[in-house]
Amino acid sequence: MQKDYLIRKFMLEGIRKEVIEAFKKIKREYFVLKEYKKYAYDDVPLPIGHDQTISQPSTIIFMTNALDVKKTDKVLEIGTGSGYQAAILSKLAKQVYTTEIIDELYQYSKEKLKKFKNVKVIKKDGSEGLEEYSPYDKIILTAASKEFPRHLLKQLKENGILLAPVGNLYVQDMIKMTKDKIESLGKFVFVPLKGKYGFTQ
Ligand code: SAH
Repeated sequence: MQKDYLIRKFMLEGIRKEVIEAFKKIKREYFVLKEYKKYAYDDVPLPIGHDQTISQPSTIIFMTNALDVKKTDKVLEIGTGSGYQAAILSKLAKQVYTTEIIDELYQYSKEKLKKFKNVKVIKKDGSEGLEEYSPYDKIILTAASKEFPRHLLKQLKENGILLAPVGNLYVQDMIKMTKDKIESLGKFVFVPLKGKYGFTQ
């Protein structure tokens, strides 16, 4: 598949212009492993080692769009992985904090994100959030949570948005939470969230 094809698809789907611009600017081929570069614009998740995956482009763009990121926003991402989602967010937000639990992926994404001056990569169990820099305008979980992560709401600003795939190990609902509302945006499949509030397996 071609990047242009995905861009046309996102336009038809009504994805916000700024989100499409961010997708145009950030090179997914730079974040995937060398051996998968030729598949960078296939709309599929790709392995990044350590049993983890970089989500498919359409999922990343769907979530980014739903998060409604503003230029003034402070955003927390839980699950840095390759660093691609954080890079996309960096084009839309003021500051991005992103946490990764696996040391090798922390090292990998930190290197990849070196040039992204408004992204801070932190090695930490993000299932508890990241109190240090809270409250956030937006929080995005990019790993599957077994329960509604209500405990993260206290790290969210009054009108903030929390987006998280919630379900079991095989399928999840994309949940959009604010302090007074919860809605489901459809079914997705993510790798499991580990750590204190994650899956133990
Ligand atoms: N957003 C990533 C893909 C995420 S894959 C990208 O753009 O490439 C999910 C990631 O969440 C994996 O790297 C996994 O190691 C990480 N993860 C799982 N549980 C975590 C936790 N409790 N805290 C931080 N990271 C976690």
